[in-house]
Amino acid sequence: MIDGARIASLPAALLRLRVPAGDLVKRIQNYIDGRFVAGDREFADVNPADGTVIAQVTEASESQVNEAVHAARYALRGEWGRLGVRERAARLHRVADAIEKRFDCFVQAEIADTGKPISLAAKLDVPRAAANFRVFADSVKMAGLESFQTETLDGANALNYAVRKPLGVVGVITPWNLPLLLLTWKVAPALACGNAVVAKPSEETPATATLLAEAMQDAGIPKGVYNVVHGFGPGSTGEFLTRHIDVDAVTFTGESGTGAAIMKAVAPTVKPVSFELGGKNAAIIFSDCDFAEAVSGISEAVFLNTGQVCLCSERVYVDRKIFSAFVDALKKKAENLNPGWPNDANTNLGPLISAQHREKVLSYYQLAREEGATLVTGGGVFKFGDNRDNGFYVQPTIYTGLAESARCVKEEIFGPVCHIAPFDSEEEAVAMANDTKYGLAASIWTTNLKRGHRVAQQINVGITWVNCWFLRDLRTPFGGAGLSGIGREGGMHSLNFYSELNNICVRL
Ligand code: NAD
Repeated sequence: MIDGARIASLPAALLRLRVPAGDLVKRIQNYIDGRFVAGDREFADVNPADGTVIAQVTEASESQVNEAVHAARYALRGEWGRLGVRERAARLHRVADAIEKRFDCFVQAEIADTGKPISLAAKLDVPRAAANFRVFADSVKMAGLESFQTETLDGANALNYAVRKPLGVVGVITPWNLPLLLLTWKVAPALACGNAVVAKPSEETPATATLLAEAMQDAGIPKGVYNVVHGFGPGSTGEFLTRHIDVDAVTFTGESGTGAAIMKAVAPTVKPVSFELGGKNAAIIFSDCDFAEAVSGISEAVFLNTGQVCLCSERVYVDRKIFSAFVDALKKKAENLNPGWPNDANTNLGPLISAQHREKVLSYYQLAREEGATLVTGGGVFKFGDNRDNGFYVQPTIYTGLAESARCVKEEIFGPVCHIAPFDSEEEAVAMANDTKYGLAASIWTTNLKRGHRVAQQINVGITWVNCWFLRDLRTPFGGAGLSGIGREGGMHSLNFYSELNNICVRL
């Protein structure tokens, strides 16, 4: 059943309305060559807070994906391809302005799709989307390249210098956990470098990518430069896009297994890929930490966005001297979380993204019991006695007592859950943190900064925080080792991925 009242409360600007007699279904369409276009097949967009259908989404056919790729290619030959860096940067600032102008629409669309608390969407997701455009607009203007004066064998000189050119058409494939933030983290640098993009947002969260199309129009981004095709992965839009011969590069954030599938799909056409993948991140808490700061920091690191951030800590290692006190304190934090309605300002725990993902997380709660874990708190679902019972909430959960080889300690769960284990020495803590095939992020909590630096340099990850978590400077390298990804995003790292460098050697 479609809940007309809830649908009607969605931002009108977001959704192209088609209202045949008696039909109140809102429709989210593809955005190809500057126009919103429908297709033959649709799928439902569900609100995770109460399970209601909030819109029907057009699934792009293979021919629509082709049209989007061709529109992007054509746009590169038009006005967009001729713009200088200064004007491109100015337009990206206007995209940021247009996001800020529609701030509430973006926040409400993100909340409706993800169920995340308004405190998070309004403080993190939407401001970061605007910031992504501003940061890359500014950094592309500053991006210099090396030059070398070379002596030739016959004693003459040559001057080598590199010029930065766009890659061409970039396929952008993004997940559902931070939909707008992660999409713009890729689209902004890709456009800053002069590329055109075809974006495929997650099928779970199609709304804000579509709303971004209107911001692009407002900002004077020419048609065909930003295209959106909705749909799924294998046998659908994601696969059509990644294997497309006229897509020059693929940038992907999502599960490690999906990264492997995309690698196979791009292999025949030898495209560059940038992969931000899964994690099973460790936090190490030493007995000399600022205890209150560490407990608050780890509570954020485990439960923010209901544990659905790639950087979340699912493995927490605590010095045995403070182990019991730490477990008790984190338990209190977990039990004080407020799993309310997303639009309630006091809510700080939203639902999981979907019924399917809730099944997955609950299957790990069951597995933890089978693997012999001690349940500290949680381990099940809430009973609200209202429509949230039709949504996808789960209890924040803490376990202790598992072997380091247990599947719950090895595999990414991507929910509000962690396992806490004690350690007796720095060496043991480092060894446990590194005992994983993932390598995305870690945090270290100690007031001994020498130890902080020493340990940080031994952890095999792409990002290590000391006495903080998720503190981001967008100029710094972001990415993972091992199963957590290929390449780095952020600042010059993004600009280098989205550019082709042409070295020019001039004999003088
Ligand atoms: P997912 O891999 O299931 O889906 C991500 C996107 O890929 C979606 O748009 C999906 O439709 C598409 N897709 C799926 N199969 C595909 C295929 N065969 N070909 C092309 N496209 C395909 O991931 P998810 O469940 O949406 O997101 C959660 C995962 O993302 C977690 O593993 C999390 O750790 C990871 N993640 C990583 C980072 C990071 O920066 N490292 C950030 C956020 C999320």
